[in-house]
Amino acid sequence: MELLNIKECDIKGKKVFIRCDFNVPMDDYGNITDDRRIRSALATINYCLDQKCAIILASHFGRPKGEPDEKYSLAPIARRLHQLLKVDVQMAEDVVGEDAKARASKLKEGEVLLLENLRFEKGETKNDTELSATLAHMADIYINDAFGVSHRAHASVEGITVHFDEQHKAAGFLLQKEIQFFGTLLERPVRPFAAIVGGSKVSGKLEALINLLPKVDKILVGGGMAFTFLKALGHNVGNSLVEDDLLDDAIKIMEEAKRLGVKFYLPVDVVAAEKFAPDAMSRLCTVQEIPDGWMGLDIGPATVRLYRQVLNDVQTILWNGPMGVYEMDRFARGSNKIAHFVADSYATTVVGGGDTADLVQRIGLDEEMTFISTGGGASLELLEGKILPGVKPLLK
Ligand code: AMP
Repeated sequence: MELLNIKECDIKGKKVFIRCDFNVPMDDYGNITDDRRIRSALATINYCLDQKCAIILASHFGRPKGEPDEKYSLAPIARRLHQLLKVDVQMAEDVVGEDAKARASKLKEGEVLLLENLRFEKGETKNDTELSATLAHMADIYINDAFGVSHRAHASVEGITVHFDEQHKAAGFLLQKEIQFFGTLLERPVRPFAAIVGGSKVSGKLEALINLLPKVDKILVGGGMAFTFLKALGHNVGNSLVEDDLLDDAIKIMEEAKRLGVKFYLPVDVVAAEKFAPDAMSRLCTVQEIPDGWMGLDIGPATVRLYRQVLNDVQTILWNGPMGVYEMDRFARGSNKIAHFVADSYATTVVGGGDTADLVQRIGLDEEMTFISTGGGASLELLEGKILPGVKPLLK
């Protein structure tokens, strides 16, 4: 998959519209608690500054209800951008209102303007043609660097692209990197290739599992989704998270793995708890001995040892989904142990975005991984084998 490249686009001195993903976590006081997504966009913005462009930046943040809401203003992001870029960042009062339009039309080379939260406009998530046309008319060039939202056909991601021909639109460096990493991973992985798949439900990862099966050598399952497989194999899993309607699919996946010669691993022991709570009574047990009414909330130490051994000889590791309820300290140990092992491994290690990226960052291992995706939903859709709606119009 080859994308229109920002480096091949003549942007010198032009007005560029860069769709970024500045949807960062923020505390109740408006402090940005993790600015990785902002820092990830700097390569493209700095390149445009070097090319003496006038730069219009646009992003969504949170889930406002299609109208201005101060709580979701991008003002704190403009401040952080100013600190990181060391240039003034103008903040528009609106998205496509009088202020934004006036500022955009007056914007000069080397100046940076940040539009207000795109989702203050109802049309953004509806891929409204009028909104995308108005956004497009602000600039000469369109750059998409918002990997985290490229799986959404939104006005600033998909609709806007029809207003630019191949010479006037391209993928930014972050989007290029994400697409390239996942492309290489799925098309030409260095083998043996293992996928660690966890998280809450099988349903959320079913398509990804099916798409991954013919590409990997080993699959290691953890998290809540393991219990649907265990139940399908006849284990009593107590009150653990199970999707009864997917028991047949679980069997089919395991049969397909066997047919393809893919090793398929399930937990052998778990941390079981009496209820879903951080202070719940808990105990270690094998998957054969989960007490009635109890639920498995983490993988146990025997599983950690087994998975370490399984990962010992692999050259590529893809990890998507935590091994347990990592948000509660009591049930975070399995995920933490696996994270440390993956981080220390000599393999190429790719971490899907969302919860897995969050847990790796919480324990300070983010610098140790080869690549951490900035998009949970978007990376999952790539693993499902889909072409993202924001990426399709930028294909060569
Ligand atoms: P997902 O969004 O599907 O990747 O799932 C991530 C969520 O799965 C996290 O919030 C975890 O707390 C949750 N999770 C992981 N293991 C379990 C489990 N054994 N039971 C219930 N939820 C789990």
